[in-house]
Amino acid sequence: MSIILDAKIPRGDLEDKWDNHKFDSKLISPANKRKYKVIVVGSGLAGASAAASLGELGYQVDCFCIQDSPRRAHSIAAQGGINAAKNYHNDGDSVMRLFYDTIKGGDFRAREANVYRLAQVSNQIIDHCVAQGVPFAREYGGLLDNRSFGGSLVSRTFYARGQTGQQLLLGAYGALNRQISAGKVKIHARQEMLDLVLVDGKAKGIVVRNLVTGAIERYAGHAVVLATGGYSNAFYLSTNAVNSNATAIFRAHKKGALFANPCFTQIHPTCIPIHHERQSKLTLMSE
Ligand SMILES: Cc1cc2nc3c(=O)[nH]c(=O)nc-3n(C[C@H](O)[C@H](O)[C@H](O)COP(=O)(O)OP(=O)(O)OC[C@H]3O[C@@H](n4cnc5c(N)ncnc54)[C@H](O)[C@@H]3O)c2cc1C
Repeated sequence: MSIILDAKIPRGDLEDKWDNHKFDSKLISPANKRKYKVIVVGSGLAGASAAASLGELGYQVDCFCIQDSPRRAHSIAAQGGINAAKNYHNDGDSVMRLFYDTIKGGDFRAREANVYRLAQVSNQIIDHCVAQGVPFAREYGGLLDNRSFGGSLVSRTFYARGQTGQQLLLGAYGALNRQISAGKVKIHARQEMLDLVLVDGKAKGIVVRNLVTGAIERYAGHAVVLATGGYSNAFYLSTNAVNSNATAIFRAHKKGALFANPCFTQIHPTCIPIHHERQSKLTLMSE
């Protein structure tokens, strides 16, 4: 059986595609948003941000995670930093260059429209995180510091010492908590998604195991966001948390979601065993 992949790339020129998509999407009246429930599986940087933003927009959100606190998602381990085309050093950076470097770094296999969008909103992401209180490193004058990182020829990596992921997650977690206390987001910790429920081919619910009681429970919504992170524990060597496995995306795949290339995952320097005293420890701390 041949399957045709429709990645639903928005229409138009590269730089306009996602703006077109936003314009083409129907708006929902603020009065009606509370009638829609979105299930977000995962509470890392992706899930916590999505849940907090959807809650702030007015939707009802149910957010699930395996850990006892959303704060313990594996995003906490990220170290090196986050890229943005601010061009503070006037060293030739631009949205186009960040886009090009990212596409090249991904061996020209990533979807161009999505990578362009990432580069396009990169500056706003930094501003957003600063507004959330993320303590990015600063120069003595008080301006945000950044560094050249990961082989890049320009300085565009914003960082918080070696704990960027932890500090970003604290920011996202703060935003999430605000929506939890506002009653817009309900957090379901210690729940593992076991299956995805489809209605007419669309994801409308999940089945979970309550990891405290062992009970199997089901939840329904109008849409499901899977933000369940990496799956590198499928490989022999991994420094990801043990629940960074393929459980959720495997279930989605079983329900018909296409899964492109399981090898397209980062080999992180932290999982390279130390074989020799001359092996650079800097490599081990590089990201
Ligand atoms: C050591 C290290 C350093 C890194 N350094 C950088 C860096 O410098 N810069 C950079 O950009 N990136 C870096 N990364 C990568 C980056 O951290 C991750 O890509 C990103 O944090 C992933 O976020 P996420 O929200 O998708 O996933 P995660 O933070 O892993 O969150 C996944 C969530 O899904 C939940 N979940 C998973 N399965 C289920 C299930 N079946 N049921 C219910 N819930 C489930 C988990 O409980 C968790 O809440 C680094 C990663 C590591 C490990």
